[in-house]
Amino acid sequence: MRQGWRTLVLCYHGISEDWPHALSTGLAAFEQQLTSLLRRGFRPLAVSEAIQGRNRGLHVTFDDAFRSVDRAMPVLERLRVPSTVFACSGSADGGLPLNVPELAAQVEAYPDDLATMDWDALRGLVERGVEVGSHTVSHPHLPRLTDVELQRELRESRERIADELSRPCRYLAYPFGDEDARVRHAAAAAGYDAAFALPGREDRIDSFALPRVGVYRKDSSMRLRLKTTAELRRPAAALLRLTEQRR
Ligand SMILES: [Zn+2]
Repeated sequence: MRQGWRTLVLCYHGISEDWPHALSTGLAAFEQQLTSLLRRGFRPLAVSEAIQGRNRGLHVTFDDAFRSVDRAMPVLERLRVPSTVFACSGSADGGLPLNVPELAAQVEAYPDDLATMDWDALRGLVERGVEVGSHTVSHPHLPRLTDVELQRELRESRERIADELSRPCRYLAYPFGDEDARVRHAAAAAGYDAAFALPGREDRIDSFALPRVGVYRKDSSMRLRLKTTAELRRPAAALLRLTEQRR
């Protein structure tokens, strides 16, 4: 546990103009959001530094490893903002669409936008300097699993990602941001260095429930400013949480 978490870790999902869903951010909006944060004095940090919670640090994460995230890479490289992509090992076999009941209708209507990166695409990210973390095997609500299922989701995904990418898989993002004390302990026991929640707690920081700010399609620049202002982040997050879906 640490006090005083002030690093801003953003959580995006898809990068697409065509998918009119909360989880999808247009490329121009994405660039504008990062440019504005950098102008406000946020300093880009690698994930290993970001988990230390430094003041005004900035790190970008993408949950679900949608293929569309490739579009964000040139922008991140140009702005020199490091990023982490959290992949489900079960989807990376063949780059399958994310298979969660909550998105079944979206998969039907927008198959390209729901397609995820296969192992080759994830290796391509690693070559570009992107960190690849685990988003479990099959994207379940972790608190609902038995101990055995929970272990499997956490360990198998970490080992598989490490094997396929030939590097350690150190970080985890909880699907739907869903976690509790049992899940956090299991994540530590499964060998991760840290895990990201959504939005998580900022009052008393737990390395296995690191807070992130989810960015969604409806986030205007004013709304994002509210969500990313440290002094306002807690009350703003509490308010906005009421209106946001988490994946
Ligand atoms: Zn997810």
